[in-house]
Amino acid sequence: MKTIFEKSQPGKRTLSIAACDVPEYSLPEGLLRSADAELPEVSEIELVRHYTALSKRAYGVDDGFYPLGSCTMKYNPKLNEEVAALPGFTGIHPLQCPETVQGALEAMYRLSEKLAEITGMDEVTLQPAAGAHGEYTALQLIRSYHLERGDTQRDKIIVPDSAHGTNPASATMVGYTTVNIPSGADGCVDLEALKAAVGNDTAALMLTNPNTVGIFEKDIEQIAKIVHDAGGLLYYDGANLNAIMGIIRPGDMGYDVVHLNLHKTFSTPHGGGGPGSGPVGCKKALAKYLPGPLVVKTESGYGLLDAPESSIGGVKTFYGNFLVTLRALAYIELLGREGLKESAELAVLNANYMMARLKDKFPAYSSRICMHEFVVSCEEIKKEIGVSALDFAKAMIDRRMHPPTIYFPLIVHEAMMFEPTETESKETLDWACDTMLELLEEAYRDPEAFKKHPLTTPIGRPDEVAAARKPVLIWQREN
Ligand SMILES: *Cc1c(COP(=O)(O)O)cnc(C)c1O
Repeated sequence: MKTIFEKSQPGKRTLSIAACDVPEYSLPEGLLRSADAELPEVSEIELVRHYTALSKRAYGVDDGFYPLGSCTMKYNPKLNEEVAALPGFTGIHPLQCPETVQGALEAMYRLSEKLAEITGMDEVTLQPAAGAHGEYTALQLIRSYHLERGDTQRDKIIVPDSAHGTNPASATMVGYTTVNIPSGADGCVDLEALKAAVGNDTAALMLTNPNTVGIFEKDIEQIAKIVHDAGGLLYYDGANLNAIMGIIRPGDMGYDVVHLNLHKTFSTPHGGGGPGSGPVGCKKALAKYLPGPLVVKTESGYGLLDAPESSIGGVKTFYGNFLVTLRALAYIELLGREGLKESAELAVLNANYMMARLKDKFPAYSSRICMHEFVVSCEEIKKEIGVSALDFAKAMIDRRMHPPTIYFPLIVHEAMMFEPTETESKETLDWACDTMLELLEEAYRDPEAFKKHPLTTPIGRPDEVAAARKPVLIWQREN
């Protein structure tokens, strides 16, 4: 497909405007361009067709099944979009005085309270803009906590080898050294390995539960005790709360601090790097380090507290991505306590249903009941016929099904990680399973032909290493 620049022909216009019949005003020399802007020149219908064709090449949750494990591409109710688009919310300015924005402050206050309740934490900041940013913020709280107690030798963050890549990255950003601990055979934290790793240099353990292979860490209370006994803190990577919200709470499992991804669990569409929100909740002992400003209740309504007493300082301008937080509040209010719980139950049911239908042909990493996602391995299939997880992912594209996450978590060879989410019907899940099983047959029939997928996209198999190492991000005119 050509770019709009390649379609350009000198003199073409989308519309013709009548000649100017009033005196022209000319700008001073220094403000004028020395040459014309190099804009594409096309007719209106070419313009419309170009962008319509591009939009049809995109694939999103609104187009079809999107089981991208760990990323939670679930359906986001359109009602919440409408709430976030209300002019009373979009038209306000962050520097307006609190008396004039009571509704917005109340929304932030209410969301903070709800998130504190859902996670079992005492205080919440809505400021961080994404999951990794929430991790960074939370680790800064942990750092301040240890330093203020004079515990200055704690410079290590323990991370299981199955963790999301942002965990060690955030720890490094905050100046910590990460210590990787191997998972046990069942994909869970190996308690002996943990005991050997903790010490008086442990600042915290970062752990998501259910963990990154979709299994619940059943020893979480023991894990918390081991870390706390060593003087460390326990950090919950709550990017994806879909399996547990309304059922169990990180705070009750022994965690001290948590981040959430509103753009995975609470109704903000994501992908492509759009605005996100990664609120951080913490127990009382860490609350005085939170970034400001915080919304507080006053006698006459709501006000703003610049910063708690030992604040780490702001991590983003003003109050974070406000419109994202509104969607989350609308979503939580819409579902209510029972609805949140039911949606978590359905997320787990859907994942187990799919796993049960696939696991005879695509071996599951763990034989245990999974949570909201599950991991299968194509290692055996690859050994037998040379067809890899990547080949399956490419073939799914031709069936209009978004591939699952592949080659993650790193501890599973030829991994495919499915997260069907709670918003898919049984019909869709059956279609997806049938499609996978048909693709498997196709692969066995003719492995070489199978490796040619996708056949329906303009670009089929880019050189992935070159695409990552030497990305071409701008189109350059040839002359
Ligand atoms: C997505 C994710 C993150 C990072 O969130 P971003 O908003 O992409 O920065 C962290 N941990 C886990 C488990 C995730 O799934």
